[in-house]
Amino acid sequence: MHSEDLRQDLANSARSFHARGWMLGTAGNLSARRAEDSFWITASGRPKDLLTPDDFVSVNLQGEVLAAPAGRKASAETAIHRVIYRHIPEARVVFHGHSIEANLCGHLARNGQLRLPPLEMLKGLGVPDAEPEVDLPVFANHQDVARIAGDMDAAFAQSLPRVPGVLIHQHGVTVWGRDLLSARHHLELLEYCFRYLVQAKALAIGVQA
Ligand SMILES: [Zn+2]
Repeated sequence: MHSEDLRQDLANSARSFHARGWMLGTAGNLSARRAEDSFWITASGRPKDLLTPDDFVSVNLQGEVLAAPAGRKASAETAIHRVIYRHIPEARVVFHGHSIEANLCGHLARNGQLRLPPLEMLKGLGVPDAEPEVDLPVFANHQDVARIAGDMDAAFAQSLPRVPGVLIHQHGVTVWGRDLLSARHHLELLEYCFRYLVQAKALAIGVQA
């Protein structure tokens, strides 16, 4: 089954995330399933406010390139997207950004988990309000992206995250959703949590349960 071609929608999303400071320089990557076993992902090294449908490469879940416009190479972080699509069949869109707050929040993690603030908004991440103790997994960063993907693969095989996202320390956040809009909501809500935690820390307000 082929999905809708979301390349232009991904480009529009990237422009919006760039404007919010989450995908500056050439940082960040966006992808959407093309079929059950393949997806479109941003080419590496492209500025995220100027993407066009020609800035996407199609790869399959084994990592083989199916289609690439001339001069375009799949994002170096494609392996991370592959892990998510392989373990989470309902994930159809994945966003990865590098915000200041996401990177500051990595320092608030304990034992590889970041406790999210017990806010009403967590409902939007699929957490009922009666269950405020929710942790976001935090993975170590490695220059070799395959190592990050390997750590995620091993962790996801044990259990999937409670919320649709993970943090990579000193690097950025990755979220997924069943469609473009839900992935955007998840990124906005987690970025809100990160801003909240950074400001709460600055005000010395204890928000960790
Ligand atoms: Zn990255």
